[in-house]
Amino acid sequence: MTSSSRPHLATTAVHAGRGDLTDLGVHALPIDLSTTYPLPDVVAGGAAYDRMAGGGRPETGDPLVYARLWNPTVARFEEGVAQLEGGAEAVAFASGMAATTALLLARAAAGKPHVLAIRPLYGGTDHLLATGLLGTQVSYVHAEEVAEAITKRTGLVILESPGNPTLDLVDIAAVVRAAGDVPVVVDNTFATPVLQRPLEHGARVVLHSATKFLGGHGDAIGGVIVGDAEIAAMVRPIRAITGAILHPLAAYLFHRGLATLPIRVERQQHSATVIAAALAEHPAIRRVLHPSLPGQDPLGLIGRQLAGPGAIVAFEMMGGYEAALSVAKQVRLITHAVSLGGVDSLIQHPAGLTHRVVADEAKPNDGILRLSVGLEDPGDLLADLEQALP
Ligand code: PLP
Repeated sequence: MTSSSRPHLATTAVHAGRGDLTDLGVHALPIDLSTTYPLPDVVAGGAAYDRMAGGGRPETGDPLVYARLWNPTVARFEEGVAQLEGGAEAVAFASGMAATTALLLARAAAGKPHVLAIRPLYGGTDHLLATGLLGTQVSYVHAEEVAEAITKRTGLVILESPGNPTLDLVDIAAVVRAAGDVPVVVDNTFATPVLQRPLEHGARVVLHSATKFLGGHGDAIGGVIVGDAEIAAMVRPIRAITGAILHPLAAYLFHRGLATLPIRVERQQHSATVIAAALAEHPAIRRVLHPSLPGQDPLGLIGRQLAGPGAIVAFEMMGGYEAALSVAKQVRLITHAVSLGGVDSLIQHPAGLTHRVVADEAKPNDGILRLSVGLEDPGDLLADLEQALP
């Protein structure tokens, strides 16, 4: 690597947000748990407050005033994610849903409450949009319908790719073209920046439930938005006003998780591909959903948008709902639990749990289970599935 070339993602994952540690004389990431900060005087405190509450970053020497506005440990994690996604800035929230909330509130406050949403989406996101709780008016559209569905009041286009739970792939660049001036938000939770960097395909905003792969260990809840300076300035005041900033201990855990993100995703994806192929041959399974399988990348996105199929697999049982519930009950090594993206494998029933709040017409088929493949040996995971399957 020459000093001017961009480091490989694996290197960025280890070093991003740590550039000043040697100067500080420390090796591990420092954690700042202060809720409040000493003020040199009212005027300096007030000026810093205005900068941060207004959506900006503190200037060198600014007192940080109050940790709902800014936290240095959170800012380090933000720097790490921004570098991995190739964005100018990142803003971290107490959950993925808090991050989505900030985006929706920001657009509604700007007189653009209409959102185009491409299903499937995580059930919580789908539900938040459908309720209109935040003043949002949603139109659920297919990717090809985006251009014609845009109105003067459309403030966002939201999509997931791969989508939760059925791993549908969306051509981000095509949606961006159709959306024109309307910002496209890509929930990159399933792909992670290891497999897909939506900003490179024209998306304006990347969103993560950091709870999943970024953290990777199932021990912290958080969310993050990555985008340009204008996007960051739009959501930071909402984060401050609504009290949605990520806790610094969670930021520390997420930042530590980033270092192993590439190696985890690659290994988990490899195991998921092995498992998807084996399940596709099983007589008790009607169909397996994983972008590695024939016919499941109809737009040819693997290679040009997505580096690989990812570590989440869904499958539909021949025996439908009852059979799916029985498998979820009988796994032993795999944990029957919602969430995904961690080092240990989880299985859950989307129609009954993560997507139970989705309208009936968009609810996943109730014979489907979603498996998040962890770092265990794939042979051991398959053996567990074999004994749980009818
Ligand atoms: N986006 C996706 C794709 C998810 O799977 C989830 C949660 O499962 C969320 C967003 C919401 O994130 P959180 O649970 O951190 O609020």
